Amino acid sequence: MRNDYIFEQSKKYMPGGVNSPVRAFKDVEVNPPVIKKGVGAKIYDEDGKEYIDFVGAWGPMILGHCDEAVVKAIKETSENAIAFGATTELELKLAKHICTTLDNIEMIRMVNSGTEATMSAVKLARGYTGRDKIIKFSGCYHGHFEGFLVSAGSGLMTEGIPGSAGVPLESIKNTLIADYNDLQSVKNIFEKFENDIAAIIVEPVAGNMGVIPAKFEFLKGLRDLCDEYKSLLIFDEVMSGFRVAYKGAQSLYGIKPDLTTFAKIMGGGLPSGAYGGRKEIMEKLSPLGPVYQAGTMSGNPIVMAAGLATLEKLYNNPDLYKHLEALGQKLEEGLKEIAKANNIPLVVNRCGAMLTAFFTKEDKVENYEDAKKCDTGMFNKFFTHLLKNGIYIAPSQFEAIFLSVKHSSEDIDKFLEVARAFTK
Ligand SMILES: *Cc1c(COP(=O)(O)O)cnc(C)c1O
Repeated sequence: MRNDYIFEQSKKYMPGGVNSPVRAFKDVEVNPPVIKKGVGAKIYDEDGKEYIDFVGAWGPMILGHCDEAVVKAIKETSENAIAFGATTELELKLAKHICTTLDNIEMIRMVNSGTEATMSAVKLARGYTGRDKIIKFSGCYHGHFEGFLVSAGSGLMTEGIPGSAGVPLESIKNTLIADYNDLQSVKNIFEKFENDIAAIIVEPVAGNMGVIPAKFEFLKGLRDLCDEYKSLLIFDEVMSGFRVAYKGAQSLYGIKPDLTTFAKIMGGGLPSGAYGGRKEIMEKLSPLGPVYQAGTMSGNPIVMAAGLATLEKLYNNPDLYKHLEALGQKLEEGLKEIAKANNIPLVVNRCGAMLTAFFTKEDKVENYEDAKKCDTGMFNKFFTHLLKNGIYIAPSQFEAIFLSVKHSSEDIDKFLEVARAFTK
């Protein structure tokens, strides 16, 4: 079969046959399908098999695959502009769109990935405060930057690696780890390190240990602690931004971060990232200020055009979020009902168009410790069953199921029908 042939060949030339580890399906018993084509909510592999796609490129494809407006923007832009490494009106358009439609972004800097956005935001926070230490939460993932590879969720969680080789102790000595949804664990750190903490970085709706929404009091408490100790609060909305709501998780909670990071949806499926926030902080960036951060490809015209087409469509059609919410609710309730009817212990966490079904006997999953108690063996069987039956979700218990605006109620019915058959 072509799928297996291509994957075997890929292993000869790329480590594990992939360019990002989770794609290798290491923890499940099947080979990854090799994807050839995507249309709307469907993808097709090299063997011609059709799947309903609930991965959406790990989040970016909220408009579904090859959305007409995004394809048009890419095609038209590429006729005239591929890369200049110079100012273009397109980057102004996207920057202005984001700064004017979101509440807590006065200025923004474009980069090329989520990893770049988070590592740059942390550097900026350090430059702004003149402090070195940061607080991150176990199970939260902020990209593969060295200082974040401590207790970092999903990919690392599935593989059971505590961190990563090649990370000198030196580069993580300023990373302090607290527990998600546990304010006391953060207070303890502040009491110990008082005026040394540059920033707290947090996923306001965690998606990289499976979906775990923060509790309101927890996020509010982080804001208060940051105010008290004059540290910056960074919301990593690389996954949740433009997904759980157009204005991100911060709008659902009504809590203002000092800096926010974006990627995934904001690039419309092209390599992208950005970080932004209060002007007074952003102006510390070079060329205005002393914090140096640069990028040959940053603000690339085609990426800006794809991002703008995506964000404008989402912004101009708020009903799309109603559709996503209805689909999410239907999937959540359906899965819970099937589990209950069949005595399968299951907790479903959801925020808008992202959800995780945790195979666990616990009543709730609120942090990394809870997530780790899941029955991953059971997940793997469920995953394999779904894939065989044309439902494509991420090959890990600790990832989100993503919905796109192109999913239909019938697609959710199909998911539930396949899930029901698993319990038989
Ligand atoms: C995906 C993700 C990142 C990393 O983004 P890349 O573009 O893969 O570098 C960072 N933070 C969060 C919350 C993410 O979900």
